[in-house]
Amino acid sequence: MSNYKLGLDYALNQDQEDDIKSYRNQFYIPKDKHGNDLIYMTGNSLGLQPKQTKSYVNQELEDWANLGVEGHFEAKNPWLRYHEFLTEAMANVVGAKPIEVIVMNTLTANLHFMMASFYQPTKNRYKILIESDAFPSDKYAVESQLRHHGFEPKESLILWKPREGEELLNYKDLESILKAQGDEIALIMIGGVNYYTGQFFDLKRITELGHQYGCIVGFDCAHGAGNVQLNLHDSGTDFAAWCTYKYLNSGPGSLAGCFVHERHAYRKDLNRFAGWWSHNKETRFSMRGEFDQLPGAEGWQLSNPPILSMAAIKSSLDLFTEVGMDALTEKSRKLTGYFEFLLKDLGESIIQIITPSNPDERGCQLSIQVKKADKALHHKLTEAGVISDWREPDVIRCAPVPLYNSFEDVYQLVEKLKVILNG
Ligand SMILES: *Cc1c(COP(=O)(O)O)cnc(C)c1O
Repeated sequence: MSNYKLGLDYALNQDQEDDIKSYRNQFYIPKDKHGNDLIYMTGNSLGLQPKQTKSYVNQELEDWANLGVEGHFEAKNPWLRYHEFLTEAMANVVGAKPIEVIVMNTLTANLHFMMASFYQPTKNRYKILIESDAFPSDKYAVESQLRHHGFEPKESLILWKPREGEELLNYKDLESILKAQGDEIALIMIGGVNYYTGQFFDLKRITELGHQYGCIVGFDCAHGAGNVQLNLHDSGTDFAAWCTYKYLNSGPGSLAGCFVHERHAYRKDLNRFAGWWSHNKETRFSMRGEFDQLPGAEGWQLSNPPILSMAAIKSSLDLFTEVGMDALTEKSRKLTGYFEFLLKDLGESIIQIITPSNPDERGCQLSIQVKKADKALHHKLTEAGVISDWREPDVIRCAPVPLYNSFEDVYQLVEKLKVILNG
């Protein structure tokens, strides 16, 4: 991978040779006021809109207009079973079996529903372990779960912290925490790819460690789904949840995904919050019988879901199925490696990359620390046509997304950064 070259020609050449370059044309790329494509590096925050999404959503609007309630059965994609049309494709994206995956609710809601089932504290085992720089929503969620069960977060929430002067988390420290307090920890919940540093954790290693100490293990895969090969089934994790509006391009606030490992699929002893959509499909509409729980991840649904949002997810997943995660991650490694190569050429006295340099420990995002920078740098980048993300105090996050970003995008981004830093 070290045969990257400087210069625009190289970038254009790489785009020519890119097997999946045509997918860029299947997305709307936001434009500046002169009509030129912006350099969009925030697919980790809100993925772009596939051009075909409008027709997927329109199909449902038309069926609703023409069929009314009959659309539940008679629509081209019958609404009653609509979530089933997403399951297999979503399972392939996250490396799971269909019985382990469901699209439902939103992300933080799913984390709570998972904790309702999988965070069952006792007097002796009640602590929750998360990474110290977890996404705020995840931190608030676990703190409120602790309080809900009568525990004080101050005492019961354990943080896996980076070492002094470091940004990334070290597995040795996780081992030490577990050695010291493993038998008091009920749940380990980690962001599978950290939103800030871009560090992609070894899900299997964390799961095996946690299970060795009798802890339940779950992951928030918001920054992993559609970005890296999660292999959720093989990781052995008990549960996972992720949103679909980041790398999965399904639109602002769209529905989320949820994974429950097969080993829990038929368990009836797990506490859970139920609704009519967790009930046996065959008898759901007889309405007056006893609750009969569906097996698998489907059995965690509550409500009949918003079809318009699911149509956007179906549109996006159809693209993922066509391309496949193998081709996507292959390009992703090249593209992000190229990005890293160009950034390093700017000089490490100006720029430092927080994200791991090992391609197995990251996805497409690089988190770039710019020496002596403040938010003015981000403004200048925006003015220059680069959509990136600023995190206080001095970090720019950029995610070249393999489905629609090009080598030229990456080249132009770094050129603009160079001009701003030299100005
Ligand atoms: C994006 C993101 C969220 C957002 O949560 P919503 O419930 O979808 O608003 C939560 N956690 C992580 C780790 C995220 O990256």
